[in-house]
Order: sequence, then C-alpha cells, then structure tokens
Amino acid sequence: MEYLTLAETYQRIEATSKRLEMADILVELFKVVPAGEIEKVVLLTQGKLAPDFKGIELGIAEKLALKAIYEATRVNEPEIQQMWLRDGDLGNVAFEAVSRKKQTSLFTESLSVDMVFANLEQIAGSSGPGSQDMKLKLLAKMMHDSSPVEAKYIARTLAGKLRLGIADMTLIDALALTYSTKENRDKVEQAYNTCSDLARVASLLAEKGIEGLDEIKLEVGIPLRAMLAERLPGIPDILEKLGGKCAFEYKYDGLRIQAHITKTSVQLYTRQLEDVTSQFPDLVKMLASAFKAKEAVLEGECVPIDTNTGEMLPFQTVSRRRGRKYELTSAVNEFPVMLYLFDCLYKDGKDYTQTPYTNRRKKLKTCIKETDRVKLAEVLITDSPEEAEEFFQKVIGKGGEGIMAKSLADDSFYRAGSRGWNWIKFKRDYKSEMNDTVDLVVVGAFSGKGRRAGGYGALLMATYNPEEGKFETVTKLGTGFDDAILAALPELLEPHLSQGMHRLVNSKMQADFWFEPAMVMEVKGAEITLSPIHTCAWDMVRNGSGLAIRFPRYTGKIRQDKPPEEATTTAEMLSLYEMQLK
Ligand code: AMP
Repeated sequence: MEYLTLAETYQRIEATSKRLEMADILVELFKVVPAGEIEKVVLLTQGKLAPDFKGIELGIAEKLALKAIYEATRVNEPEIQQMWLRDGDLGNVAFEAVSRKKQTSLFTESLSVDMVFANLEQIAGSSGPGSQDMKLKLLAKMMHDSSPVEAKYIARTLAGKLRLGIADMTLIDALALTYSTKENRDKVEQAYNTCSDLARVASLLAEKGIEGLDEIKLEVGIPLRAMLAERLPGIPDILEKLGGKCAFEYKYDGLRIQAHITKTSVQLYTRQLEDVTSQFPDLVKMLASAFKAKEAVLEGECVPIDTNTGEMLPFQTVSRRRGRKYELTSAVNEFPVMLYLFDCLYKDGKDYTQTPYTNRRKKLKTCIKETDRVKLAEVLITDSPEEAEEFFQKVIGKGGEGIMAKSLADDSFYRAGSRGWNWIKFKRDYKSEMNDTVDLVVVGAFSGKGRRAGGYGALLMATYNPEEGKFETVTKLGTGFDDAILAALPELLEPHLSQGMHRLVNSKMQADFWFEPAMVMEVKGAEITLSPIHTCAWDMVRNGSGLAIRFPRYTGKIRQDKPPEEATTTAEMLSLYEMQLK
C-alpha cells in the first residue's frame, strides 16, 4: 500500500474536529488496507511504532532533521532554518521545502507503508557511533522520494508529534464499523482494554473477523489498561450507591503499579502502561521474594517511605525515581519505596478480572507473603457509616489521601480501561499547608536503621500545652539531620534520658527511648493533618483525633535559647491548622 494514501487521509482528518467525521474517514481508509498491513497503518495513525508498553520512543534532533530536509531538497540551508524558526513544526518545514524541491536526481521511488515503517523503525532504534549518519541518509532518502504531503507526515511522525487528534475511542469505532458492526463495538473495546494494543486488535479483526478477538486473553507480560474510579462527596452516598455495604481500602498516594510476575521475572508497568521495571530494581526484588504463586498479574500502589520513621513520604519523592537511567543505585537508597497491593487480576493460568472483588482479594492473599516492604492494602468491610468515617480519619491521620470504596456485588468485576461505579474514591481536604517553622520539644527517640544503626533514627517531637502542663506529641522527625548532628544527638540528649515515658509527656506512641522535655529544635513542616496517634490538640478539632505535622524537616537550629515551656504551644498549632485550612 502506498504511503501517499495514508498521508492524504491524515490531511483530511486534520481538517475536521468532528469525531464522527473522523471515524468515517478512517473507515474509508481501513477498507482499502490489505489485511497484512493494517497493523502498521493503525500504529502509524496513532503516531507510534509499537504499543506504548513496548517503550519505543520516536523523536529526532531537529538539527539532523533539518539537515536531511536540506540534503533531500537542496533548498538553501538558511532558508530552511528560517522556516523552522518561523513555524517550529518540522512537518510544515518538510512540506514547504519539498514543494520547492530542486531536482536532485531523476529517480524517485514511490513510498510504501512498509518501507516508511521499516525506515522509521531503523531510525528510532539506532544509537551509538555511525548512527547519526545512518539516520541522516535514511531520512534524506525518504524526503527525497516524498511528495510534500508525505514529507509533512513523515517528519511529524519521526519527531513524535503526529497529533492527528484521533482518540483511541474513534479508532475503535472505525475498526468495529470496518470489520464488523456497530453492535460489536464494545467487544472491540474490550479486546483493546485487555491487550492495550489496537494494532493487534485491528490485525485480528482484518484476518479473522470479530471472532478473531476471542484470541485476545490476559497474559503475563502484556499489561491491561487500568480500571478507574468514580467519585462521590460523602461516605453515606457511597454506601448507598454500593448497596449498603462495601469494602473501604486505604487510598495510598503514590505511583500505580501493575506487576507481571513469574517464577523468573518481574515486570512493572505504570497506569499509563509505561514499563518502569528498570527504574525499580528494589521493587522487583521485594516482589520476587514476597511472591508465593507461579505467575500472576497484581496491582498496587508504590509509595516512598522514610525508613527511619516508617512513614510515607510525599508522592513527589517517588517521581524523582522515574526516568533515572543512571545513578540508579543511589536513587534506590535515597528514595526507598514500599508496595501496597490491592488487586489480583490473574493467577496461575486463570484470568480473575471477571470475578467479584472479594474473590480477587482472596486470590491476592494467596499470592503474597507480606514483608516489611510489600503489603496488602489495608481494608475495612462495613455497612456502618460511622466505622467508615473512623477508618477514613485513620487513613488521613497516617498521611493517606483518602479511601477507595469497592463494590462487593456479584458483578464487581475488574473493568480494564474503564471508569465505573465498582470503585468510588473519597478524599476530603483535612490537610492544611504549613509555611511557618515551629519550635518543638524532643520527648522520645527511635533506634536508627541502615546508615543510622546504633544511633537515633528519628525523634518524637511535642508541642507544649500550658493548660494541662503537658508535652503533646505532634510528629516523628527523621529528616534534615546531617552527619554531624546525628553523631552529636546521643551526647546532647543523654543528660535528659528518662526511664519510660516522662510524666510530663502525653504520648500514645511507643518510643524506644524517652526524654525529659528539655531540648527544643526548630522544625519546618509541609502540612498539618488530623491524626489518630498524635496527642497534640486531642479531641479539639475532632473527637478521637489530634493534630500532626507531616513531612517535618529539622532546619539545623537547636533552640538553646528556649526552655521547653517556651516551645510552640498546642493552641498555636491549633490556630495554625485552622488559619491555613481557610
Ligand atoms: P485518582 O488518581 O485520584 O483518580 O485515584 C485513583 C488512583 O488511586 C489509582 O489509579 C491508584 O493509583 C490509587 N490508589 C491508591 N490506593 C488504592 C487502592 N486501595 N485501590 C485502588 N487504587 C488505589
């Protein structure tokens, strides 16, 4: 098939913004595509060379592309440069330059879809010495053989910027209409949601018709599209929507991971189905050692943690791990992570997506032996709004984002790729930003681990409540210490060591060491939240909750000028919380 047919179709598609019209144009195109070529046509139309999870990136240095355009057209270089500066779209530059092409040789070959695809693959896949030359030659040759409109779309595809504005759903409509009927559209979509590869779906349809799609099965190593949640504003609404009773799970704030595990391999995909296996070698190892089945596809949330306090860190910390190709070892140590698993989609040869939630949770349990770093998501099954509210408070207090309610109905299936009422998320803003520093009193400490072994890993910090005459815990501080202060802390605190919790301290948390309230340290926090474990302002904002500072960091200042009674008071914390909530 000639590439020109594709390029001309793209031009027509670009001229419309109507989904139905786009689908009609695509149907017209698909009808003339030979079955053996539909795979490539669909990929090219998506501006890709492979489905996303294969991780093949398009993109070319603009300098190289401009040079190739020059070599192919001999339009003078400064002029090409000018076009580029004016427009910033390689496709338009290629179009204009090829339109003004000076005849460079008598022989031009017409471009086939196969040829363009193979050349693009070669250009995208080559690196190292000599690759620039090879890319230049291949691209110049294609530009030389192109008509202006072909040159435009080849250049855009290569730049990774085809952007025809065709949604996957429109392609699905068009495939159903071409190879089957409108009524079978959902079956086509379902096949796509299972294999995440529209080109494969198209090729099966073209070769075998709608029945061909029965071949598409959930397989280990091929990610399926993630199920998404709806949202409701209150717990009673959620319970009502889910038939009066449901499972409430902790909603962790991290990176969604779909893990494909066998006895010998682990592959990790994000919600966008990006393969991140190589970025999380620690997660791969942790999963391999916690895994008890032969093979499975599991889903969970990867969250960054502070190994000294055991607390979860802001989600952004985990994003610092993403995209790192070098210094991976230091990234693994600097930003340790945990995985909370919440679903099992496949286990030992069986697809469980079409079974209810409770069954999938059961299967999940049989796949995993929990470890320090791999756990199952916390869950509460209840019909009581009060219990659910309490669970929600607990989650918020521990730094969770909210809760995820999951239907227990017989048809509470895992619906790949779709947003539905089987999962309902509930978040409420109880967090307030914190811009000020506070002066907190050291009342306890926790033993260090790893690099901090033998010393203190984190300190238990408190505010002062003058009405009660007590020091009330408000956070666990483990960040912001340099080596010097870590080494100095045992000596600084030794004179204040106390046998058991000091009588002036009010703590629900069990520390490894206790101190008489004496040393005051300056701390900067990121936000204040409700907490079921810290005693600062207990019962004052909400019954059964205190206040906690999240993501505290030691500023480097020990307030030797301040006696503990002059530390930040509980009332001050309360007003900080309330002020910033507004
Ligand atoms: P949102 O991104 O706000 O639409 O919420 C959905 C996301 O919450 C999912 O994509 C997961 O990454 C994440 N999540 C955290 N905990 C859970 C859980 N227990 N069940 C399902 N999704 C969860």
